[in-house]
Amino acid sequence: MTSFTPPIRGNNRHLPFGDQQDALFYGRDIISVKQFDREKLEYIFGVAHEMYEMVARVGSFDLLKGKILANLFYEPSTRTSSSFTSAMDRLGGSVIPINNVSYSSVTKGESLPDTVRTLEAYSDVIVLRHPEVGSAALAAKYARKPIINAGDGTGEHPTQALLDLFTIKEELGCVDGLTVTMMGDLRYGRTVHSLARLLTLFDIRLNYVSPELLQMPSEILDEITASGTKQTSYNELDPVLPETDVLYVTRVQKERFDDPTQHESLKGSYVVTKETMEKAKDKMIVMHPLPRVWEIDMAVDDDPRAAYFRQMEYGLYIRMALLAMVLGKA
Ligand code: ASP
Repeated sequence: MTSFTPPIRGNNRHLPFGDQQDALFYGRDIISVKQFDREKLEYIFGVAHEMYEMVARVGSFDLLKGKILANLFYEPSTRTSSSFTSAMDRLGGSVIPINNVSYSSVTKGESLPDTVRTLEAYSDVIVLRHPEVGSAALAAKYARKPIINAGDGTGEHPTQALLDLFTIKEELGCVDGLTVTMMGDLRYGRTVHSLARLLTLFDIRLNYVSPELLQMPSEILDEITASGTKQTSYNELDPVLPETDVLYVTRVQKERFDDPTQHESLKGSYVVTKETMEKAKDKMIVMHPLPRVWEIDMAVDDDPRAAYFRQMEYGLYIRMALLAMVLGKA
């Protein structure tokens, strides 16, 4: 009787990040920004630059030919989902898109570990967005293929933070010495949770501007304090606007409120308008992870300091770099 040989044997990729310096990202999960240091960031940004140049020169190329990405989204997404798809397409690979889990076996009651174990049988890497904090780490525990966290509830959004930092570097030339002001929903906005953590690797100053109800969670404030990074909370923008180099705006995450009418009361405060831009530095940028709802007036879009649409394009190169790296081709 012949014994069945599992298609993939062993699993040595769940070593703590950094144990295999030579392999760096090959076969690794990307769950949290806590996995990165400055050296790794430089490496990622270098690869992202190469991706930018290749896209500009040839559009797409066959680096990941034969590789398959499963794009598993339990929450809505436009940019993250389509930029990962575009990244894989431009690298010559292909994508299994599961953008609407209501058409998948999830509605039959399948657990996340089982769904992930299914998709990894058909793919080489899984990009996961899920409404629960810790879901990406849970998926990674069960999966043998790399899991990339594309947002776990109010937890983290590490690939967004990488593209945000890449945007700051590309637009302003450096990160050290900057004052970064985060404004809006800092409580539920996962992008600011990841970015604030990532910025502690640099010599920067952090300001938070938000209503009482939407302040940065205390566990993140504690982490930032422990890192030695200077941080101050405000409930209006005016006092910090003149010193701000990066104004990072977020929308109110209405889907995170138990009472859907509660967020309505926050509408209208913390809006960036042309008047705001008049009081800001000439050399500064306005960022937003998007979607923008009402928190940046459309009249600001033509201001050269409005970097949010460029920011979204930087995301393509970062995600191309990450896919190439976890699949061992960078
Ligand atoms: N697109 C970002 C996220 O998925 C920001 C947002 O939804 O407001 O977290």
